[in-house]
Amino acid sequence: MTRHRRSYQQRIFIYFFAVFTVFTVLTLAFQFNREKEFRKEQLETELNTISEITLKFIERYELFYYKDFSRLDTIKQLVPDKNLRITVANRKGNILYDSFVADYQNMENHLTRPEFQKALHSGQGGNIRHSSTTGQDFYYFARYIDDYFIRCAVVYDVKVQNFLQTERVFIFFILALFIITGIILYFVTKRLADFITKLRDFAIRANNDEDMSSDTEFVDSEIGDIQKQIVSIYNHLHDAKNELGAEKDRLYNHLNALNEGIAFFNSNNEKILANSRFIQYINLISDHSTISVNALFDIDEVKPLLEKLKEYLDDEKIINPHNLPVETIRIAKNDKFYKIQGIIFPDKSFEILMSDITRLEKRRLLKQQLTSNIAHELKTPLASIKGYLDTLLSTKSLTKEKQLYFIEKAYAQSKRLGDLLNDISLLNNIEDAGELFDFKELKVRPIINDVVENMTSRLVEKNMHIELNIDDSVQVYGNENLLASVFQNLIENSINYAGKNTSINIRQYLEDEKFYYFSYLDTGKGISEEHLTRIFERFYRVDEGRMRETGGTGLGLSIVKNAVQLHQGDISARIKTGGGLEFIFSLSK
Ligand code: ADP
Repeated sequence: MTRHRRSYQQRIFIYFFAVFTVFTVLTLAFQFNREKEFRKEQLETELNTISEITLKFIERYELFYYKDFSRLDTIKQLVPDKNLRITVANRKGNILYDSFVADYQNMENHLTRPEFQKALHSGQGGNIRHSSTTGQDFYYFARYIDDYFIRCAVVYDVKVQNFLQTERVFIFFILALFIITGIILYFVTKRLADFITKLRDFAIRANNDEDMSSDTEFVDSEIGDIQKQIVSIYNHLHDAKNELGAEKDRLYNHLNALNEGIAFFNSNNEKILANSRFIQYINLISDHSTISVNALFDIDEVKPLLEKLKEYLDDEKIINPHNLPVETIRIAKNDKFYKIQGIIFPDKSFEILMSDITRLEKRRLLKQQLTSNIAHELKTPLASIKGYLDTLLSTKSLTKEKQLYFIEKAYAQSKRLGDLLNDISLLNNIEDAGELFDFKELKVRPIINDVVENMTSRLVEKNMHIELNIDDSVQVYGNENLLASVFQNLIENSINYAGKNTSINIRQYLEDEKFYYFSYLDTGKGISEEHLTRIFERFYRVDEGRMRETGGTGLGLSIVKNAVQLHQGDISARIKTGGGLEFIFSLSK
């Protein structure tokens, strides 16, 4: 229910009326009091005079002596005031005469009356009170002279209505003043109210986001200045709001473009802001699908982080804005790794940041594994070299031929060590510093021709034949050394594993807008199915025991795969029906 609101003008009137009424009542009360005092003084003088006359009368006719107070009736007849009451009492308060009461002999003792008591102590005293005899208020005035009390009393007639009647002019004056001031006030407040109404309308328009620039209706006064100031403040605010809106949009766009999931919560865990990636991450980490950001708080894996954050949120401790507390957890879920970070702000709101660190984490694990593999791989040739040298040094009786044999063996192993280090270094370069390889348009056929030429003697030795079905025009965007390394590794494997009297077929069988597709096939014995997916792993060998001693480094196909991937391509292996191994790969144009 809306309460009826009084207008500004009405309110000013009500205030004015209230103030004026209070002022008038106080003035009248003051006047009335003064009137009362004045009347009292007047009555006191009158009573004093009458008591003086009464005393003179008593002394003159020696009434105390004759005890004949009824003669006092004469005084009553002389005084015009019919309400005048004269009472005489002896020292004990017994009434000797009362002009109002006929059988005054039987009246009660008056010694306890206030005016008697006052007169007894200080010679005279007055008191205003109600008379039960006449039903009116009386002003009693008593004197104590020569063991007798003389009391005079008149009706005390100070009444409000009498007063109002006598003060009629004053009241009319006040009323006239009220009306004149009211009229003046009406016009003044109307003008003020007009300004205020304009200000209000203006504020409403500002609030409704209406255009304020056309608002030129300013008056030349302080209110006009206020209005101008408000317009200026409004315009500044409006600009600031627009700028803020644009900034906010930018921020939202930025947040939504991020790979990280980000969300802000207040201290009651209520969402303030979150990007869409955040929901995606929640869905990936939690086991059920959700569209609510708050589902984060139900994920068991995230709870340890939330517990840690809670310590800061519950605590009374102050958070230093220059050193915000950051808590981080890493979780693994469905073969992926996630980093979740919580940052707490001084107002106890907090931010949760989620990122997918699978690639980094896997790479870290791989590097870790690779390092230990490398150490292991290097040990074998090193141990062999040491063994041969030990034999040479310790066995003096070795024949020249034997000595030469061991030296050759040691040499072969040191060459193998060199090959291993070269392969590791090449692989590292492809992986970590691919951008350092120089890429350009290259014809594929001449590269293969060069590689084959360098290996001719070994191919002839094994009676192997190479068939090349690649057009001269086939041109890819690549690095010459890497491409040479791809074909060299493949051919070397064929020489090593396919064996004597086999053949190799290299062909470009397809092309599309972006890629050329190649097939590399040898007619050797191939490998069994279960090794197919693993042969591209580092140091993976099909015949582990035999190969480590004599075969390749176990890095050949890893280099091939990484090199192809650096050329935006892909490679896979398959077993050819009727024997042999085929590699299918693509290289970008
Ligand atoms: P290596 O340096 O030992 O040759 P690779 O990574 O080049 O290592 O090859 C991995 C394994 O794949 C080899 O140990 C070998 O058993 C198998 N392999 C590779 N190429 C062929 C092939 N053409 N025919 C048969 N087996 C092969």
